[in-house]
Amino acid sequence: VRRLLFAANWKMHLGPDEARAYLKAFRRDCAPIEGREVWFFAPAVSLEAVAHAVRGEGRDDLLAGAQNIHWEPKGAFTGEISGPLAVQAGARATLVGHSERRQLFGETDEQTARKVDAALNAGLVPVLCVGETLSERERDQTIAVVTRQLATALRDGGTVAGGRGTKESAAVARIVIAYEPVWAIGTGRNATPADAAHVHRAIRRWLSDRGMPTTRVLYGGSVNLKNVAELLAEPEVDGVLVGGASLDPSGWTALVRTGAP
Ligand code: PEP
Repeated sequence: VRRLLFAANWKMHLGPDEARAYLKAFRRDCAPIEGREVWFFAPAVSLEAVAHAVRGEGRDDLLAGAQNIHWEPKGAFTGEISGPLAVQAGARATLVGHSERRQLFGETDEQTARKVDAALNAGLVPVLCVGETLSERERDQTIAVVTRQLATALRDGGTVAGGRGTKESAAVARIVIAYEPVWAIGTGRNATPADAAHVHRAIRRWLSDRGMPTTRVLYGGSVNLKNVAELLAEPEVDGVLVGGASLDPSGWTALVRTGAP
């Protein structure tokens, strides 16, 4: 049974007070929906507020996540947060390798691998973002780029196979991949469901070949209320990672409830 994942990436928006008000409205208007989870990737300063707001009243469908972590568990890295610090603030997951990290902050494939390892070591579920640029798509390199990003970040599957303790194994089993074509993020352009499904199938084949057949693969890139239903109708799509359209609680509530009974 598919458990759909709706992941909100707030990027550099919504401070602690705003996050509290947002979650109050969201929890009021969006009761748990069978078979759906909602994860909030908040700015580091709002993580604790979000984690506090998603707990309680027996709701296990909500989760707080970080947008980025450093690969070291601690040290002299001014301005960074580590996996263990994110966990202390209440995070249970973290984005890794978001295209804005890769494009604007020069994050490399190798760094994403170290961050995936760091997340798992801290017991955080990594949501690994992969996706091609427009010029890579135009040169027909989409599948090659995406599989290279997967192979490096997951050490060609070794990340999953490695012997780990209970905390790490639980996180390994829950790794999520987000396919986000770079040209579709924040641009209003998005892949057709058929285009997305084509790439998702390639990702799923890659994962299955390495013992991860049940790993969820999300789609991201200008997902909104108008296009989410047709994307979710695609069986290859296990959920969505959403930036702009997740910033307003009523719009996000409507998006999360799309097609729900
Ligand atoms: C994102 O930040 O991962 C994203 C997909 O953004 P947007 O929905 O705004 O394109």
